[in-house]
Amino acid sequence: DVSPEALHIQDLDVSYGQSVRALRGVTLTVPAGSVVALLGANGAGKSTLLRTVSGTLRMHRGAITAGSVEYAGRKLNGADPVTAVRAGVVQVPEGRRVFGALTVDENLRAGGLGLHRSRRDNAARDRVFGLFPRLAERTNQRAGLLSGGEQQMLAIGRALMAAPKLLLLDEPSLGLAPQMVARIGEVVTEINRQGTSVLLVEQNAAMALELAGHAYVLEVGEVRLSGPAAELARTDEVRRLYLGEE
Ligand code: ATP
Repeated sequence: DVSPEALHIQDLDVSYGQSVRALRGVTLTVPAGSVVALLGANGAGKSTLLRTVSGTLRMHRGAITAGSVEYAGRKLNGADPVTAVRAGVVQVPEGRRVFGALTVDENLRAGGLGLHRSRRDNAARDRVFGLFPRLAERTNQRAGLLSGGEQQMLAIGRALMAAPKLLLLDEPSLGLAPQMVARIGEVVTEINRQGTSVLLVEQNAAMALELAGHAYVLEVGEVRLSGPAAELARTDEVRRLYLGEE
């Protein structure tokens, strides 16, 4: 894919300190306008890959030791989160971290900081409230009092306030009730339909493979399998290890 708003990761090595090699020779593309799923067991390196793209790796004492990360033709290697956000790349962190003592509205505003134009702000808010009507009903409620599913929606909404072109989602369905998981799936599809690419890390492989066009399977820091999601879902390895089939 040579389109300008694609994410290209090439031969990427990432380490934490001297001894932990979290990613080894990872090559991955998120074409503009697509949903790409990233599967893998605990510790496979999924979060590390997202941190590398969003510029938060250094906050976790990690470093790129080889390879490149490019978004929209720009090298993001080792860039800080502000640079990534300005380039259009925003991560929703694992664990639906919201500011519990702040209101829904204040949380959303925090996501739009640095984008000064109020008109753009309002468009982003309208988009968030269109996707999550429950948040619109609770703008003055403290985020800490929301349900788990609502907090996940707020975490996604906060990321959308920065008007991303590529959204990085880390385990959005983790710990949520089935109904809420389904809702998150619909939301990812809708966000993508509105023109935002999505790189989706999920333990729920069945859902991820349904939402995504392409998928990658990471095993101990390396890409083990990749291809069209529907094809991967039919392979023995994915069915056995990730879809829990016999
Ligand atoms: P999980 O779903 O458990 O988060 P993951 O696939 O996202 O798994 P990573 O969190 O990226 O995997 O971890 C990849 C490897 O890097 C693991 O061996 C992990 O122990 C190690 N690791 C992750 N973060 C750090 C850190 N801040 N310092 C040292 N090692 C780390």
